[in-house]
Amino acid sequence: MATLYIHIPFCRQICSYCDFYRIGAVDNVSHIPPILCQEMEQRSNYLVDRDITSIYFGGGTPSLLHPAQIEMIIDKARELFNCSGVDEITIEANPDDITEEYVSQLVKTSVNRVSLGVQSFDDDALRLMNRRHDGRQAERAVALLRGAGIRNISVDIIFGIDGYGGRALDDTLRRAIALDVEHISAYHLTIEPNTRLGLLARRGEYTPVGEDVSEAEFAAVHKAFTDAGYEHYEVSNFAKRGYRAKHNSAYWRGVEYLGLGPGAHSFSGDNRRWCISTVKEYLAGIFRYDEEVLRASEHLNEYVMTSLRTAEGINLDHIADCYGEAHSERIRRAAAAWLDSGTLVSEKAYLRIPPEHFLLSDAVIEALFV
Ligand code: SF4
Repeated sequence: MATLYIHIPFCRQICSYCDFYRIGAVDNVSHIPPILCQEMEQRSNYLVDRDITSIYFGGGTPSLLHPAQIEMIIDKARELFNCSGVDEITIEANPDDITEEYVSQLVKTSVNRVSLGVQSFDDDALRLMNRRHDGRQAERAVALLRGAGIRNISVDIIFGIDGYGGRALDDTLRRAIALDVEHISAYHLTIEPNTRLGLLARRGEYTPVGEDVSEAEFAAVHKAFTDAGYEHYEVSNFAKRGYRAKHNSAYWRGVEYLGLGPGAHSFSGDNRRWCISTVKEYLAGIFRYDEEVLRASEHLNEYVMTSLRTAEGINLDHIADCYGEAHSERIRRAAAAWLDSGTLVSEKAYLRIPPEHFLLSDAVIEALFV
C-alpha cells in the first residue's frame, strides 16, 4: 500500500509562524494542476506498491484550487495507480475560502475529508498569527461543510501562544469542541527563525512561552479534548472513534508515499526524495530533486520516532525481526529508567508513552535512538 501527497504551495497571505514551502502570491495557482499531473506521470514508478489508500492535498493552500481542478488531479491518480482502496481524500482549507459556492462544488468531487486551519478562536491571537479569518468565520465554515454533507472534518488548533493561554485558550478549546468535528490537531506554536514571529522574538517584541506554560497548556488541551470523548492517538492529534487520520497514520507506520509539487517529500521504504524546484521552475515543467538513501540505523530511528509519538508505541518484536535482537535488547535497557518513572509503559511486545506524557516524547525518543 502507498499514499499520495499533493502540495499546493500558494498562499494569499503569509502567516507569522509559517515555515512551510509556499509563496505569498496566488496568480499562478490555476496553472499548477496540469503540471502536477505531468509530474505524477513522470514519477509514478517511484512507488514500489501501486495500491493507493489515501490522497492528501496540503500546502500552502489547496482550497485556492477550484474543486474541479482537485478532481482532475484525483482522476490522474486513478489513471496511473490502483485507487480502488482509497477511502480517504483530504483537502486542507482555510476558513475564508469556504463559501457556499465553493462547498457546493466541493461536494461534487471525491474529496471526503476537509482539514480546516482554524488555529484559534481568539481574534487577537489570529491577528498575531496573521491569519485572514476570524473565529466566527471558522465556525461558519464548519457549518457550511456540515450543511453540504461533509461527514469528516478536522480542525487545526495552535496553543503555546504568549498572551493567549488561560481564558483565551479555554475559549478556543470550548469552541472547537462545540463544533463536534471528527478530528482535531493541536500543535504547540514553534518559533522558527525565518518567520515574522522569529523576527519579533529576536527584536524582543515577542516572547516564546516557557516550559512550564507549555506543559500546563498541553495538559489543558489533553484534558479538554479527551474529556469531550476524543482519543489522543498521536502527540498532536485527537479523533473520535473511527476517525483517526488515515493518511497521517500511514506516514507514522512507515508506509511509502509519493509527494508531488514544489517542496513535496516522497518516501519509498529506504529512499527519501524531495522536490527542490522553485515554483517558477516547477510551473515551467522543470522538476529537480534531492534524495538520500536511509541506512538501517536511520530507518530504525525513524520507526522509533514516529511510533513512539502514537498511542500504540513501538513493537520490540518487530524491531528484533527487522533490525536484530541486539537492537531490541538495547532499547529495552535504554527504556528502563523511563519505565520506572511511568513516562513509558510496557504492554506485551509494546513500549508506549501514555498520552498525558506525550510532551516528553522527544526526550524519550532521543534516549532510545541508535
Ligand atoms: S496558510 Fe498555511 S502554508 Fe500558508 S502561510 Fe499560513 S500556515 Fe503557511
